[in-house]
Amino acid sequence: MRLFINESDLNRFKRRAARGYPREVYGIMLGKRLANRTFKIMQIVIPPIVEATYDYVIPDYGKIEEIVSTSDLDYIGSIHSHPQAPPTISTHDYQYWDKDRVVGILSVRKRNIYKVTELKFWRKNAALPVKFKTFKPGENGRNKSG
Ligand SMILES: [Zn+2]
Repeated sequence: MRLFINESDLNRFKRRAARGYPREVYGIMLGKRLANRTFKIMQIVIPPIVEATYDYVIPDYGKIEEIVSTSDLDYIGSIHSHPQAPPTISTHDYQYWDKDRVVGILSVRKRNIYKVTELKFWRKNAALPVKFKTFKPGENGRNKSG
């Protein structure tokens, strides 16, 4: 499995996660399935949150369903931040894993005035992270023809 991610949406999510620090920030990834087990993430949407702590976020699942059903894209997975923790699956992440969806984890650590991030994507029960690349939204046409 491979992911191509809209760079501007990913950067926007990173900024939101840095601003939200030290709380977790959560988003859902919408996109399309391409050939060869490749998924293109075109949008990262931040749904309303029911509860946010320093360890986990409970999103409004009803709203997520609404967002997905009114979108013409597929629900590929979710992404959330791990403030001051590594980008690996926590017990909570494992327990609340949504079927076979991809889970992205953005580690956000504070280094003096800077916030440093590290991003990894996971599939359930896979030992290695999912490979990913970003694309610039303006490159859509070029990707299709190439
Ligand atoms: Zn987590």
